[in-house]
Amino acid sequence: MTNRIVVTKTHIDGAPKETDFEVKSQVLAQSAQPAGSVIVKNLYVSVDPYQLNRMKSDSSSQSYSFLAAGIGPEIDCYGVGKVVASGNPEFQEGDLVAGLLTWGEYSVLKPGSMFRKLDAMGFPLSNHIGALAFSGLTAYAGLFEVGKAKKGDRVFVSTASGSVGHLVGQFAKLHGCYVVGSAGSKAKVELLKEKLGFDDAFNYKDATDLRATLKKYFPDGIDVYFDNVGGEMLEAAIDNMNAFGRVAVCGVISEYTGTGRRAAPNMVDVIYKRLTIRGFLANDFMPVFPEFISKACEHMGSGKMVSIEDISVGLDSIPSAFVDLFTGGNVGKKIVQIAQE
Ligand code: NAP
Repeated sequence: MTNRIVVTKTHIDGAPKETDFEVKSQVLAQSAQPAGSVIVKNLYVSVDPYQLNRMKSDSSSQSYSFLAAGIGPEIDCYGVGKVVASGNPEFQEGDLVAGLLTWGEYSVLKPGSMFRKLDAMGFPLSNHIGALAFSGLTAYAGLFEVGKAKKGDRVFVSTASGSVGHLVGQFAKLHGCYVVGSAGSKAKVELLKEKLGFDDAFNYKDATDLRATLKKYFPDGIDVYFDNVGGEMLEAAIDNMNAFGRVAVCGVISEYTGTGRRAAPNMVDVIYKRLTIRGFLANDFMPVFPEFISKACEHMGSGKMVSIEDISVGLDSIPSAFVDLFTGGNVGKKIVQIAQE
């Protein structure tokens, strides 16, 4: 069997381009090797901003992540697939699995790697890449465990129409918070206000003064800032935080490509307002997964929460899907469908 995989040609230290990637063929053994491995036909794979940090020549992502250091030749990703050969008695041909796959048509999952049998619980398989997987856990744990959001809090979320952001806003609304989101286009802002129930939203690209813009949307200040972008937005949010406010630093995508300015928040403000600014990784919160999944299934099953997905089709679309993340081309969770279910 031949497996087609997407690989990087070299390290990527700036904004990614489609030409940074190529599709390669590799020979795949017909039986699961090494012993105990499982071969999975990939159905849906995730493309995520954090992967860019792993493609750089150097990034803390490679030292502190639970993933192996660096990349290559295969690129790890979260995904859902179907077992086609198994050397592991716990998995049978035809089983659906979710976990750490690779950007390819097939993934060889070695013993000890992160994957589990998937019970779709009546939800579309694609939901198990985002809202019912790490994007959902990131949103839930970041908002409640790190941001300590409580009823009545004023919550600001950046990149609010993205995979994590659109779930943060919905969880916060369902919890009784006042929620404002920022996003990069008029259509995204409309989606937040009209479909996802945000109290308000604005296009940050139209804002000439982010501090004044946040002051306008939060005349009584911000209690929780869920930060997905870093840079000037983080500085402006700190300026508008209330005393004892919490900043959940989920990601700083404006700083990943080296083109945006790094945040230099007013640290005197941080002290006098007694702010908590805490970075986190979703996988720190695996013990919260059962609580999160039960809440997410309840809200999604009753239609109170929706999962927005942006699905490209075919392995060859992975590079463009990935580049889209850094140009604002995606709405909701970016997923690539590799094969029909
Ligand atoms: P996403 O929001 O679905 O996709 C990326 C979006 O980021 C784009 O659509 C674009 O939206 C925005 N963006 C791109 N470049 C930007 C820039 N220079 N300035 C401002 N916004 C920019 O991605 P996601 O998966 O939900 O991830 C969101 C953030 O959370 C990322 O920083 C990611 O690294 C982080 N994250 C962290 C964890 C964790 O465990 N800590 C887990 C998952 C994700 P606009 O059109 O609105 O600009």
